Amino acid sequence: MSSKHRVVIVGGGFGGVKTALELADDRRFHVTLITDHIDFRYYPTLYRTATGGRRMISSIPLSEIFAEKRIHLINDTVTALDRQARTVTTKVNHVVGYEALVLALGVKTNYFHIEGLEEFSYGIKTPADAEELKAHLHQQLIDQKKPDLNYVIVGGGPTGIELAGVLPSYLQQIAKQHGLPKKAIHVDLVEAAPRLVPRMPKDLSRRLARQLRRVGVRLYLGTTVQAQTADALMVNNKPIRSHTVIWTAGVANNSFFAEQGFQLAKNSKVRTDQFLQSDPGVYVIGDNADTPYSGMAQTALYDGVFVASNLKRLASNQDPKPYTAKKPIYVFPAGHHWAAVLWGSIRIYGRLGWLLRSLADLVAYHDYEPWQLATRRWAAEADTEESCPLCSPELIAPTGL
Ligand SMILES: Cc1cc2nc3c(=O)[nH]c(=O)nc-3n(C[C@H](O)[C@H](O)[C@H](O)COP(=O)(O)OP(=O)(O)OC[C@H]3O[C@@H](n4cnc5c(N)ncnc54)[C@H](O)[C@@H]3O)c2cc1C
Repeated sequence: MSSKHRVVIVGGGFGGVKTALELADDRRFHVTLITDHIDFRYYPTLYRTATGGRRMISSIPLSEIFAEKRIHLINDTVTALDRQARTVTTKVNHVVGYEALVLALGVKTNYFHIEGLEEFSYGIKTPADAEELKAHLHQQLIDQKKPDLNYVIVGGGPTGIELAGVLPSYLQQIAKQHGLPKKAIHVDLVEAAPRLVPRMPKDLSRRLARQLRRVGVRLYLGTTVQAQTADALMVNNKPIRSHTVIWTAGVANNSFFAEQGFQLAKNSKVRTDQFLQSDPGVYVIGDNADTPYSGMAQTALYDGVFVASNLKRLASNQDPKPYTAKKPIYVFPAGHHWAAVLWGSIRIYGRLGWLLRSLADLVAYHDYEPWQLATRRWAAEADTEESCPLCSPELIAPTGL
């Protein structure tokens, strides 16, 4: 590296923000973070924001995270890479030069070209998605004065499971607040594979299935979605009547990589060398990289620390270290105060699992904020926030953030 050590990071999510924070206090670097959103999205609590929780638990302004850090923050979308000139170009035609480039763009929702899904389904990939879903659940009770016949979640992965775990009780609660008589509310979870979390051990899938049934979720396993219309989801050639289908079943790599001629693996993730480089000086991390545990926040954080550490080694004229993948701890919340934890060969179920998950959230918030602010944000996980005119005034609990 030359004496300037200009590092450009693209993507203000788990991997990008972590890399920036790791380099921020090292005066040998000039760090620019380019990202298309002004907030950091804490995805693990989006299901809670969608079911009556506060937005602030899943969204932290980047300006707060970097308030006292030497990071040049640019709110823009990177659209092109020039490997020869070592520049990236943004949507507003801003050209930014780099000596090291770190790409952490995350993934996009994939609808697999299934007819009607993109148009009619809801999602929980962003805080705005979560709030849109929450608003819909209430509006539908206002407009039709009765709950939907079926609420359908598609996807038996972690996101579908965590949402399914709390949706039945939330629907009962808001139906009551809307003054509607107590009625059977159906929450269905549709999964194409014959079991939940098919890549996890079978006993874990069984425990999660049992827990979801216990909280009132009907499981449709081995069931393939064929199409969606305004009032039904077609599965295995039969319709499930519903105005509320939540799609959590597919992600695809960010199209930037295919468009910019990166070498892609079969799963469309970027092939990298042992230093997570796709090209000299271009590092690809987190969900975008074809690494063994890609697709987890823990991996994106680990990758960010790894790349930052190697950039520091290079700045000190030391050889970079090769990457060794780290197995994450898997946590699946599935109901109030219930989570399954898979930690190596250890399994923990129930309230203790949930407690571990809750503590992990606190530690994660502290990655971005001082303890005092992180603790207040963490405590707000128990608060309620509604925009519904029938539910809001008495429900918003003040926490002072
Ligand atoms: C609902 C949900 C729950 C999850 N729960 C967990 C969990 O409990 N535990 C866990 O380990 N993992 C969880 N994950 C997965 C985890 O969030 C991801 O693995 C992690 O976010 C990946 O980090 P990243 O930095 O690669 O991408 P991201 O965190 O997605 O960050 C990418 C950022 O880049 C921005 N960006 C994209 N393109 C551009 C561009 N061209 N120019 C500028 N900016 C751009 C995006 O807007 C985004 O801000 C969850 C994911 C979801 C969706």
